[in-house]
Amino acid sequence: MTSEKTADISHQMTAESMTAFIRMETDKGVSANMLRRFNGTVKAVYDYLPEDKLLSRERLLEWRRDMEKQGYSDVTIRNYVKYINRYLDFVGCSEIRFNRGKAKDIAGITFGNLTAIEPTGAKNRGDIVWKCVCSCGNTIDLPATRLLSGNTSSCGCLQKSHLKKVNKTFANTNLAQVLRDNPISTVSVSGYVGVAPKRDKWQAYIRYKGVNYFLGCYDDMEDAIKARARAKELVIEDATKLLEIYEELQQEAVAMVVQGETSGQT
Ligand SMILES: [Zn+2]
Repeated sequence: MTSEKTADISHQMTAESMTAFIRMETDKGVSANMLRRFNGTVKAVYDYLPEDKLLSRERLLEWRRDMEKQGYSDVTIRNYVKYINRYLDFVGCSEIRFNRGKAKDIAGITFGNLTAIEPTGAKNRGDIVWKCVCSCGNTIDLPATRLLSGNTSSCGCLQKSHLKKVNKTFANTNLAQVLRDNPISTVSVSGYVGVAPKRDKWQAYIRYKGVNYFLGCYDDMEDAIKARARAKELVIEDATKLLEIYEELQQEAVAMVVQGETSGQT
């Protein structure tokens, strides 16, 4: 990410510059309602600035982050940004305005699961980086060309759900299904999963990761049921551990996919 050389550029806001701006807009025939909004915006920025009243790009971005933190809606923030841009153009300081007009305006446009919200102010190899919101609710910053080329169509959740499908089975065993412990069977003679009659006894067994484990033969069916239940506990413990490992691996894989997307060639 590189930012353009605007860090040293600043504009001093004064009561005079703000009055001149409003007067110019009045002369243009702007409605009283819009004038109120323009006035409110420049005053809000002025009040936000420290004593020196120097407006720089960095402070402008801080101001916007501050509005986000305070819970202003996206629409409100977009309007504020639009109005302060107008002021900056008027005072001849367009260098520090938001989205300097060179980039294609993709605000509100949807690419797959992603909707472009606004430029972040950052750049990636000369490409404007946009704040995007994914249909899953995540937000992600992406260079515009990534979106426009169709190379990226989600925050990474699409890849994640795909990986989940691939990885959550082990030796033909659906781990999530193993965790659902339902000992009652409608097909077995005993009425219990993993408990079957063998000669005049009851045999307990459990199938896990493609292997049948025999847990002994018991005179009393109750004992066979208990043995099966103990084995099931161990199986659940093992499956839980495996699932945790898979979750970690998936998160790493997704992080790599997303990283590759944001830093990859454009
Ligand atoms: Zn997502």
